[in-house]
Amino acid sequence: MKNFSEISFSGKKVLIRVDFNVPLNERFEITDDSRIVAALPTIKNVLKDGGSVIIMSHLGRPKNGPEDKFSLKHLQKHLSALLGVDVFFVQDCVGEKAQKAAKKLGVREVLLLENLRFHKSEKEGGFSFAKQLSGLADAYINDAFGTAHRAHASTAVVAQFFPNDKYFGFLLANEIASLKMALKNPEKPFTAIIGGAKISGKIDVIKALFEKVDNLIIGGGMAYTFAKSMGGSVGKSMVENEKVLLAKQLIEEAKEKGVNLVLPIDSVNAHSFNNNAKTYTSDILEIDSNYMGLDIGKKSIDHFSDIIKSSKTIIWNGPMGVFEMENFSTGTKQIANAICSATENGAFSLIGGGDSVAAIKKFELADKVSYISTGGGAMLEYLEGKKLPGVEAILA
Ligand code: AMP
Repeated sequence: MKNFSEISFSGKKVLIRVDFNVPLNERFEITDDSRIVAALPTIKNVLKDGGSVIIMSHLGRPKNGPEDKFSLKHLQKHLSALLGVDVFFVQDCVGEKAQKAAKKLGVREVLLLENLRFHKSEKEGGFSFAKQLSGLADAYINDAFGTAHRAHASTAVVAQFFPNDKYFGFLLANEIASLKMALKNPEKPFTAIIGGAKISGKIDVIKALFEKVDNLIIGGGMAYTFAKSMGGSVGKSMVENEKVLLAKQLIEEAKEKGVNLVLPIDSVNAHSFNNNAKTYTSDILEIDSNYMGLDIGKKSIDHFSDIIKSSKTIIWNGPMGVFEMENFSTGTKQIANAICSATENGAFSLIGGGDSVAAIKKFELADKVSYISTGGGAMLEYLEGKKLPGVEAILA
């Protein structure tokens, strides 16, 4: 496979799959354009060569066909401003209208297609839908890491129609390179920090990380299921009762594998799920029956921070507490600070997952870590050792 940056797209129409699944407010204004900004280098590179760009993406989760609130037309103006060129928009991503618009597109012009997920065939990986998409262009670039773990028409199926003209964009190539850096010969000590609400979605990644890391720090809601498995009293904290046994097994497995599985020592407990609730801090194994743990306590912060600061490779996915509420954001903030200090001292740090990324942005620390991944699910699946269909389709 040829490297995307070594190709000239002069005179070519290039279909680029991006992840423009950005948050919009009630006036359909973009509240965080990071995903659009992240794809600009690839788009600009094709335009600079003298190619024309046809952009395709999904937005939100439309159920049965077109819905105005999920239309990509809401992004047209902002994309034009960011690129400094007029962006044309077409109300469908396939069919006559799309074909006409693509045909008309001139050199260094940009066409934005309507939401791919207005067609069921996108998520079903429809062959003829993918073929129709491919008919719009001469070359295909996938720059959407956020959906690389999905075998959808625009990520995995369309690539086969461009056997000699399919490429990774800059963003996707960088994501893979950063993940490889963390997984292949990581500098030791290697520490993974896994937090967030539940164990359920993260069992496979925890198990896979046991094969790689020296330390695996657990925080967030899932820590209380581990605490319960150790015989602790966790009050009204979030617990997945059907995963208590599994948590116990994971503790055993870590011991067998020689992995330092690090659980919180103490917990900040609230009387209700409310920023202004009455709180107190206790040992995580001794929470009052009327309270729920919503953040890690100071002892945990200090212990986790020491481990993080002495690490050379760090992966972080999932907050340490309910960071959206000011009074329960300290744990997540201090862990983010420890990761930044370690990075300043030469560690490689990789942050992924919607909530950890939101947290690091909220604390304005995004430029102090080595790499922020644009894909939570895709990052976890890559770390689990799974092959990502969107990546494999380009390599095939
Ligand atoms: P996830 O999507 O699994 O990464 O979970 C992220 C969510 O977990 C965030 O919205 C946090 O507010 C939530 N969370 C973190 N810690 C806790 C906790 N101790 N109790 C309840 N929810 C939590």
